[in-house]
Amino acid sequence: MSNKTLAIIKPDAVNNEYAGEIIDKIIKAGFKIKAMKMTRLTVDSAEGFYAIHKERPFFGELVEYMTSGPCIPMALEKENAVEDYRKLIGATDPAKADEGTIRKLYAKNIQFNAVHGSDSDENAEKEISHFFSRNELLNNYTD
Ligand code: UDP
Ligand code: MG
Repeated sequence: MSNKTLAIIKPDAVNNEYAGEIIDKIIKAGFKIKAMKMTRLTVDSAEGFYAIHKERPFFGELVEYMTSGPCIPMALEKENAVEDYRKLIGATDPAKADEGTIRKLYAKNIQFNAVHGSDSDENAEKEISHFFSRNELLNNYTD
């Protein structure tokens, strides 16, 4: 069981001014923010991040969406982080997400779904290093 996950407040949620409320929910759910920044992904970076989906029919639209404006990646820490954060955000499709989850509250549809969460410990590690250097992760007062 790992204790880290990579979260992203996606461009739709940043643009809709939901970032503050989403960060508040993450903190109140017991996650420590180990690193955070606001950044706009390049096409190369978004394609690399979602390489696992490159054969899927929605890949082009996903890259377009994720590069459409700034997003806020965060490295989060908590016991059982991957599973607990996926529970906090709810199903990929907000229509299927449980009441009170971040996607139920802030997502528009299965594409514009407000947030990302890693799906395994192995991917969490890869995704955290996609956005943050080792130094950025260590340079944190919660250590
Ligand atoms: N997505 C989409 N159409 C789909 C499925 C997914 O546009 O039919 C987008 C959506 O933004 C989703 C992302 O692609 O969050 C990655 O899909 P995945 O299946 O990994 O969902 P997640 O892990 O984000 O819940
Ligand atoms: Mg996924």
